[in-house]
Amino acid sequence: MKSDPKSYLLFQRAKEATPGGVNSPVRAAKSVGQDPLFIDKGQGCRIYDVEGREYIDYVCSWGPLILGHRHPAVIEAVEQAMARGLSFGAPVDLEVELAEMIIAAVDSVEMVRMVNSGTEATMSAIRAARAYTGRDGIVKFDGCYHGHVDSLLVAAGSGVATLNIPGSPGVPDSFVGHTLSLPYNDAEAFRSMMREKGEDMAAVMVEPVAGNMGMVPPDPEFLQALREETEKHGCVLIFDEVMSGFRVAYGGAQHRFGVIPDMSCFGKIVGGGMPVGAYGGKKEIMEQIAPQGPVYQAGTLAGNPLAMAAGIATLKQIQQPGFYDNLEKTAARLEEGLLRLIDRLGMPATVNRVGSMLGLFFTPGPVTNFEQAKGSDTEQFARYYRGMLEHGIYLPPAQFEAVFVSSAHETADIDATLSAAETVMAGLQDHTRVT
Ligand SMILES: *Cc1c(COP(=O)(O)O)cnc(C)c1O
Repeated sequence: MKSDPKSYLLFQRAKEATPGGVNSPVRAAKSVGQDPLFIDKGQGCRIYDVEGREYIDYVCSWGPLILGHRHPAVIEAVEQAMARGLSFGAPVDLEVELAEMIIAAVDSVEMVRMVNSGTEATMSAIRAARAYTGRDGIVKFDGCYHGHVDSLLVAAGSGVATLNIPGSPGVPDSFVGHTLSLPYNDAEAFRSMMREKGEDMAAVMVEPVAGNMGMVPPDPEFLQALREETEKHGCVLIFDEVMSGFRVAYGGAQHRFGVIPDMSCFGKIVGGGMPVGAYGGKKEIMEQIAPQGPVYQAGTLAGNPLAMAAGIATLKQIQQPGFYDNLEKTAARLEEGLLRLIDRLGMPATVNRVGSMLGLFFTPGPVTNFEQAKGSDTEQFARYYRGMLEHGIYLPPAQFEAVFVSSAHETADIDATLSAAETVMAGLQDHTRVT
């Protein structure tokens, strides 16, 4: 399906200039049979494409915009930082302030290093864990995405799942030879692997709330098993909270589920919409990072003042009492409305939600791991996606991505979304019967 003329023309130019016309694969909206919309601007929970069409936005820049677009406090903070200069490559006060805020917020973090993306955070955390343990092995879980780090592009969910490729060409076998991927939420499979290979493993990395195979909540026993076994075998437990951090609670998933890892990775919300990542953890691990220790990791623009300012301003807003309760209520309204619709229309679909992260799967469910997520009817999702877009609702353009609700979404926006979903889903029923 072609988009409107302005987006279409931009996309033609983009495809000549950039692989696939986009700077990150899922943006291309290929799996939903759509050309991408080029966005002109955003305000609150709404975005406007270059055609001037208005949409209620549930992508929220793929998670960072927990306050919605152009929150005045964030814009003001960035403008103030900008007035002092864009970047110095020398320390600034804002880096210290954001680091202290992350340490105060997150139980597992005693020391933190700023980087420019979530990918850099997970890549660097793995390096630190390997140096700390003197081991090479890494355990991850099917459907969890940890950025495009070579050694982590195994059964990696998100864009890789959407494009239906198992790993990636260009990653030598020897790079992934140390990586083991196990089913998510399967405590028994994990324990039995650890009994055999625990002593070879440097790190176990997990999305404590999985948001890159659609939205899959953790079984609390699974997280507990990760903690127990890694402790027993001297591996570093790394929570990749790039998406869940400051999203499912101010203290992240580790706070919400009461399981404290050794290291944590952040990104998205801590940058308030600017490019940021961060990784941190126990002092004895983090003290190995250069220049304090021998593990090299660096970044020309790391700790950039504009990005720090946006992160600090965002964290100050979401720290306010009642913030997460309100967000939870808004997201619950969306979840309950969708479940009612599914039930009433007899749709073979299910909804998962943790806090303001939500996933609608076109399978009767339950969806507790990647295998089950992959059982979804992606054709049906594509029809749903296109229908919603026509009704002014901008969803993540793939079945295997999470929907984000921001504090800028109001009851009326949720209700408008549900009313669009009702019309669109009623139209899908014809397809349900024939397939
Ligand atoms: C988005 C994401 C990443 C990668 O972050 P980038 O900033 O895109 O490099 C890593 N891990 C998780 C869980 C993510 O959701």
